[in-house]
Amino acid sequence: MANQHIPVTGGCLCGAVRFESIEPPTEGYYCHCTICQKAYGGLYSATVSFPGSAFKFTKGEPKYYRASNFAKRGFCADCGSPMPFFYEGNPNVWVKIGSLDHPEDWPMTKGASWGHSAHWHTDTKVPWHEISDGLPQPTSTLAEEHVARMSKKGGG
Ligand SMILES: [Zn+2]
Ligand SMILES: [Zn+2]
Repeated sequence: MANQHIPVTGGCLCGAVRFESIEPPTEGYYCHCTICQKAYGGLYSATVSFPGSAFKFTKGEPKYYRASNFAKRGFCADCGSPMPFFYEGNPNVWVKIGSLDHPEDWPMTKGASWGHSAHWHTDTKVPWHEISDGLPQPTSTLAEEHVARMSKKGGG
């Protein structure tokens, strides 16, 4: 695909925390779980994954909050912007796509050439929010298996 920015860079709203990945993202997901709704103040979170070995913070460090025993959520202590998300025991990092400098480079759409995206936990989706992008919507059971796979602590 043309015009993708590599390294992939991003950061928080105030600029105190900056990060980069020397590799492109590998997959994306929209999460409609109630934790993500509260954590990001939105209807869902939109997240892309980078190999942990390719990712580093280039300025500052986020603060972390644990809403569950299988993951920690990073945010800027100064401006509150959510950014990285780490599953316990998994070296890779999931980053809110809106924190990238060029989220337009990585369309989370059906058939996107860079990687696969899906909607998770749609059973807790806000009912008036209609999804019409044609992406898969795995069931809750599959979502739990997904978390278990991501988090060694969760059993996967
Ligand atoms: Zn900030
Ligand atoms: Zn979620």
